[in-house]
Amino acid sequence: MTNDTINIDQLTGWLTRFRELVTEQVAYLTELDSAIGDADHGSNMTRGMGAVIEKIQATPAATVDVLFKAVGMTLVTTVGGASGPLYGTLFLRFGTTARAVETLDAAGFTAALRAGVGGVVARGKAEAGDKTMIDALEPALNAFDAALATSPDIAVAASAAYSAAQAGRDATKALLARKGRASYLGERSIGHIDPGAASATLLFQALAETLTKE
Ligand code: ADP
Ligand code: MG
Repeated sequence: MTNDTINIDQLTGWLTRFRELVTEQVAYLTELDSAIGDADHGSNMTRGMGAVIEKIQATPAATVDVLFKAVGMTLVTTVGGASGPLYGTLFLRFGTTARAVETLDAAGFTAALRAGVGGVVARGKAEAGDKTMIDALEPALNAFDAALATSPDIAVAASAAYSAAQAGRDATKALLARKGRASYLGERSIGHIDPGAASATLLFQALAETLTKE
């Protein structure tokens, strides 16, 4: 089956799978953040996404903008760390760009994703190579876009994005952190994968898995 659109149930499935993955990998995210941060990235993500799923189950949204506004606001208000406002901004921008629709086509989904990642850049002022979640998000977005140029299948594009996110995540190991808490370590931040790049990879893993299981 070709996935040339993605509906609100599939988008909810994406968020639900993301929550499952951060929960399954809480110890890994904590371990990464204990090496170059304050060991709270796992708990921040599980608490935040737990609150998101609770919220969207309690108040089901009819349109994509309303769904992602609830997701973004919940993350901003429940996660104290840097990642809460950053992921919150990603989802808020995603929703605003998607607008009041029930289904997104490939171009609409890409535009929303691009706006979301752009929101993280605008808010965090990090660029590629600074050893942040941007180092997984940007390559994933670019791979997503490139895949859609040859095939209109969102599931295929999501798998390509997931592979690119993994490569981007792994490449953060060699980088020196220039933004966020890890930047306080200077040279000592080299040799460790960035926790936010790892959770951002799970976001694309969740998308790829949600769309390919159908
Ligand atoms: P905190 O750093 O406040 O403890 P978390 O541990 O939850 O928050 O999240 C840390 C992650 O946030 C980092 O690994 C990095 O990927 C991301 N991050 C931090 N600052 C920025 C920034 N300015 N821009 C983009 N991402 C950032
Ligand atoms: Mg932290």
